[in-house]
Amino acid sequence: MPQNVPDFRFSDDAIKVRQFLYEFWCARGYPPDLRDAAEATGFTRRRLMQVYRELDLGIMIVIDQEADNVNLLKCMPFSAYPTQARLIIDGRFNGYLGCAMEAMAASKMPPFAGKSCNIEAHCACCLAPIGIVMSDGALTSAAPQSALIHVSLSPWYWNTTNVMRMCDSMNFVIDRSHAQRYERQTGRVGALFTLQQAIAFVSRGVATRMWDPHRAPDFIRPAELFEGLKSLGVDLSVWER
Ligand SMILES: [Zn+2]
Repeated sequence: MPQNVPDFRFSDDAIKVRQFLYEFWCARGYPPDLRDAAEATGFTRRRLMQVYRELDLGIMIVIDQEADNVNLLKCMPFSAYPTQARLIIDGRFNGYLGCAMEAMAASKMPPFAGKSCNIEAHCACCLAPIGIVMSDGALTSAAPQSALIHVSLSPWYWNTTNVMRMCDSMNFVIDRSHAQRYERQTGRVGALFTLQQAIAFVSRGVATRMWDPHRAPDFIRPAELFEGLKSLGVDLSVWER
């Protein structure tokens, strides 16, 4: 959905469905289908379709808006399709994470509290492994320690229709030289986040995600995002003119 959506509140039905999606995905590591959602909530197919669109507008999930079956592509931090980051907890695959930035957020989900969350990732340019361990939203270790997150899309282009392109632009790299190689591969420069800057960036959202059942919709407001990223010390010079 577009940028600068005016403030709105989620309906009670949307809050109920969002909670179900979190619980299902955290427990199973894969997304529910419409039948799962209907059985858990008591909502009809049509009501679920309306609620999914509402949650998509508030950037809680991403659906294929064109699909008759409102195909569920993401419920942040999770992704229904393979990404650059797998979540492994207690040796078990717990799902793909939406992007490198969401990977830094996942361990803060309430069902994972106190658990060691292993993120099996790889470098965007060469696919070399990157292993990150987090617990309760904090970084335990990163191998290699030089790992960074490369963001190749300016916030002015985030969520112009949905967050798919934004997530796709947020990738782990081994270090600065691998980031430069990825830039040559894609023909696009980007900003580099340290893992700690990424954790700080996602911290506001993860503090309430699933913790607060009444968490308000998210919004992409590029001017505010720019100021927030600057305050974290991220070098945004590649996006400024
Ligand atoms: Zn690489």
